[in-house]
Amino acid sequence: MGSVNHPLAGFCRDCLTLQHSAVRRCHACGSPRLLHHDELYSLSLAHIDCDAFYAAVEKRDNPDLRDKPLIIGGGKRGVVSTACYIARIHGVRSAMPMFKALEACPQAVVIKPDMEKYVRVGREIRQLMLELTPMVEPISIDEAFLDLKGTERLHRDPPARVLARFARRIEDEIGITISIGLSYCKFLAKVASDFEKPRGFSIIGEKEALSFLRDKSVTLIWGVGKAFAATLQADGIRTIGQLQEMEEAALMRVYGTMGQRLYRLSRGMDVRRVEPEGEMKSVSSETTFNTDLSSANDLVPILRSLSEKVSRRLKAGGIAGRTVVLKLKSQDFKSRTRNRQLSDPSQLADRIFRTGLQLLEKELDGTKFRLIGIGVSDLEDADKADPPDLVDNQATKRAVAEGAIDRLRTKYGNKAVETGYTFGTGRTERPPGNGKG
Ligand SMILES: [Mg+2]
Repeated sequence: MGSVNHPLAGFCRDCLTLQHSAVRRCHACGSPRLLHHDELYSLSLAHIDCDAFYAAVEKRDNPDLRDKPLIIGGGKRGVVSTACYIARIHGVRSAMPMFKALEACPQAVVIKPDMEKYVRVGREIRQLMLELTPMVEPISIDEAFLDLKGTERLHRDPPARVLARFARRIEDEIGITISIGLSYCKFLAKVASDFEKPRGFSIIGEKEALSFLRDKSVTLIWGVGKAFAATLQADGIRTIGQLQEMEEAALMRVYGTMGQRLYRLSRGMDVRRVEPEGEMKSVSSETTFNTDLSSANDLVPILRSLSEKVSRRLKAGGIAGRTVVLKLKSQDFKSRTRNRQLSDPSQLADRIFRTGLQLLEKELDGTKFRLIGIGVSDLEDADKADPPDLVDNQATKRAVAEGAIDRLRTKYGNKAVETGYTFGTGRTERPPGNGKG
């Protein structure tokens, strides 16, 4: 043994001492909370979920409540937001009407939710998560996916141990408990975290995914709610194992794109990545017209105005995009998306507009459009954006002019400066900006 890479070496979740698989209690601290798994040191995708979060925070702040059944809820909606585990033993559940909850557990203490406090604690936890990896994708105030792939050298420990240490840290520093699911994909990491709450740490490996899922209900699958489960049941499908026996084409024929999801998730195939918070993929602006438009005269000024909107948002965020994306939707709801890469990232309305215009000109074939949108993707920091262009002198002049226009607008407001393109051409009655922006 001696090494975490030894296939038999599990570890104790309380003291992290390595353990041989044959033991049932930690030989160092006596704890029964041991982790063993064939894939213990190769899995890196985690789902972390706080246990009865609101209730746990209130119990932390008032130790008198610790051993009492506690319900967080009431207020306007009159339902249970969170029930502590003691209240759950009495049958209290989330979203239960309060009067029912109190029928089930009359001795329960009821506290109105203090959202501000929970948000604050949620943020503290998120900060600690970000010390483990930047790859943190929050799902709600008290849960997140973490991808710990490639962090082993930084932490000098495999993800499983990093996570166990993290659970201890949350208990010590925040004063609440969490449950962890560790797997190779989001779907099963989330399933795992729910497996032995509270203070759980469950692992679902790649090799056992099929057999693990076989006897589970279809409702375990993401996107299968009550209504869809009823549809499946009417078709004779109740378990994930049944889905595992079916062909992808057959499932898609009957259930469309959902059929594809059923096929994949039932087999533990889930390629969704962990997407860190705040990682915007694009900045865009679009507008739908009251009357369908087909001419350059009508469309170009709108494109200009939308480009300026996009540029303002890029400048405000200190970001720039390397690819300009034009989106059109025709009268018959067909979408056209065209894009062009720039030599360097830009946040200038003029550059975004001119590139968009080149793309638009090719699409003006008499088609009537109901929507136009412009945006940039491949976002990065603005520090490399729009370098002084030695070749295209005009472009530099325009950039300088745009800087001046921006300064005027900051001073006098957006309406103070209109470029030639957004000036009247007889369409002031239908200004863009009713799109989602
Ligand atoms: Mg939770």
